[in-house]
Amino acid sequence: MNLVVMKFGGTSVEDTAAIGRTAGIVAGRVALGKSPVVVVSAMAKVTDQLLRAAAAAAQGDRAGALAISSRLRARHRDTAADLVKNSAECATLVCTIEEKFATLDEVLRGLAAIRELTPRISDLIVSYGERLSSRIVAAAFRERGIDAAHVDAREVIVTDSEFQKAAPLDDIIEKRAPEKLLPLVGEGKVPVMGGFIASNEAGLTTTLGRGGSDYTGALVGGALESEAIEIWTDVDGIMTADPRVCPDALRVKVISFEEAAELAYFGAKVLHPATILPAVKKNIPVLVLNSRNPSCEGTRIISVAPHCKSPFKSIAIKKKLSIMDIVASRMLLSHGYMSKIFAIFDKHRCPVDMVSTSEVSVSLSVDSNASLPEIAADLKTLADVTYEGKKALVCMVGEDIRGQQGIAAQVFNAIRHINVRMISQGASEINMSFMIDEDDADEAVRSLHAAFFKEPDPEIFDVEARKQLSVISDQ
Ligand code: ADP
Ligand code: ASP
Ligand code: MG
Repeated sequence: MNLVVMKFGGTSVEDTAAIGRTAGIVAGRVALGKSPVVVVSAMAKVTDQLLRAAAAAAQGDRAGALAISSRLRARHRDTAADLVKNSAECATLVCTIEEKFATLDEVLRGLAAIRELTPRISDLIVSYGERLSSRIVAAAFRERGIDAAHVDAREVIVTDSEFQKAAPLDDIIEKRAPEKLLPLVGEGKVPVMGGFIASNEAGLTTTLGRGGSDYTGALVGGALESEAIEIWTDVDGIMTADPRVCPDALRVKVISFEEAAELAYFGAKVLHPATILPAVKKNIPVLVLNSRNPSCEGTRIISVAPHCKSPFKSIAIKKKLSIMDIVASRMLLSHGYMSKIFAIFDKHRCPVDMVSTSEVSVSLSVDSNASLPEIAADLKTLADVTYEGKKALVCMVGEDIRGQQGIAAQVFNAIRHINVRMISQGASEINMSFMIDEDDADEAVRSLHAAFFKEPDPEIFDVEARKQLSVISDQ
């Protein structure tokens, strides 16, 4: 069947022009004899705005919440009218959009009266982003000659009831995805569904967590055993660093599942951290591609990447972290002490990224979140506790750091002007991470990038693009 799952992020469906480009990319795949299944995010920034509307309503600011909704309504309606010229299709689409906003406004009014924003209500409100974008994209595809069929993602992706970061129920998805999608593909149609949104077994709307549309794409690709999972975004692929932080960043042509997972987990926003799991399970290649530059070959994520002459493939930063120092003069080495500490983090459902211990103290890095004061209060029953926010974790990833001598010295030499708090060479041996002040993070990445990507291996990195850039800037 030559199935390909194509996931398009918010910027790839942000407006008329972007949706037009996306339609062109999908039509190109169809012309090559592929059978695409399309997963789309909400239009760029819509999820943030829906969350703002929810927060305003929860504070009783009904007018503020409805004003945000009204701006979103106009944006969706205008984009739909711009894209769909067939008058019957356009009328149906605009009517659906109006209906969706009428129900969203009902929810916001109710929330403004009750003033209690539960994770369940939050998921219901944000789900409108993908519910609307997927319908608009499907209609725009039809207008452009692609036989698209809209599919409600909540009938395919079933999760547990952990609203806002629900975990997929693989067995159900493995059944539902072929049941709902393959008959459409068999009829030559292109299914179009929203990413990120799902439902629990009772049919209530859940979401997979921020950036979760990538995860939907991978879940669908895994369940359908597609030949590839394509993640279409606004950069040329996985780069050697976030190009917004480091303008010299190079495209990584090929990278292993393990390296990509590590980068995603440690902050490379280009992929949701869970994206790789379904692909690894079925050994499906993941491609990261640029919808604004579709002829670029992007990044190929595969199980075994070729050997790279440079030690690192990419540098990620995770910001908004806190370091918690737990000091106990007597008990640290006593048996069971660590498990008591971790039980407290577990109770507050707070993941820990990095741990370092000394004879009398443990330092941990955690997301800066609202429950830190409560966690600290619980920990104080065991030891003295202090915590400090505005920290960042810099993570350098590469399989070829294994066995290389002197790498740590080179890393810390490159950032010798920066104060480093915690250091870890990951257990997987493919990352080196350290904590620094958030304000130093961008500078640290640029210094490390300058030190480690001076002579990049042309087999792995797109050095041609850098050469072309330097020719342009010389002119
Ligand atoms: P989408 O809406 O398509 O899902 P995202 O904004 O989630 O896109 O992810 C793409 C962004 O990820 C890029 O614009 C870039 O700024 C950021 N990014 C962070 N680290 C990297 C990296 N190593 N390579 C590429 N992009 C990165
Ligand atoms: N729209 C969701 C978000 O902004 C999911 C996604 O874009 O991947 O987080
Ligand atoms: Mg994303």
